[in-house]
Amino acid sequence: MTTSAAVPTGSEGAIPAGDTVTDRLVEANRLYAEAFTDPGMDASPVLHVAVVACMDARLDLHQALGLQLGDCHTIRNAGGVVTDDVIRSLTISQRKLGTRSVVLIHHTGCGLEALTEDFRTELEMEVGQRPSWAVESFHDVDQDVRQSMQRVRTSPFLLHTDDVRGFVFDVRTGLLREVDPA
Ligand SMILES: [Zn+2]
Repeated sequence: MTTSAAVPTGSEGAIPAGDTVTDRLVEANRLYAEAFTDPGMDASPVLHVAVVACMDARLDLHQALGLQLGDCHTIRNAGGVVTDDVIRSLTISQRKLGTRSVVLIHHTGCGLEALTEDFRTELEMEVGQRPSWAVESFHDVDQDVRQSMQRVRTSPFLLHTDDVRGFVFDVRTGLLREVDPA
């Protein structure tokens, strides 16, 4: 079954007609693997840090933070929200793979600012089922970062909650601004 959407004509980096965006990614991977050499590292992040960030396409974490292959765990979702599943990943990251610092990155112009919890009701009206998850929409990005920091700091499953810092990434300047946890 093919579920990938065809790349629209005239899109950046045009590819042969009939190829899907996934075909394009697979081809890029083939070239990547040709130049790839096994770095011989294990799965534990070199910098012992886990970064939790929004999935926003304008945020290139490795470039923005000067990270190299193997340096960190990156955990991403809509909003960079600390959900139960993010706690699950952080718990494994800290207890099994040796990370001890947590960096939270939200950003300006986040899609979640345009949503409300009414989105769940809209979904229920459309499909007849209310999602069990919260939308985690927000209006104040700083407050949202603070809430995320608080969720990490108060998690009983994490070994290390003393080095948790939160930031807002400005998608126009590329600069991080740290959020005061207080
Ligand atoms: Zn976002």
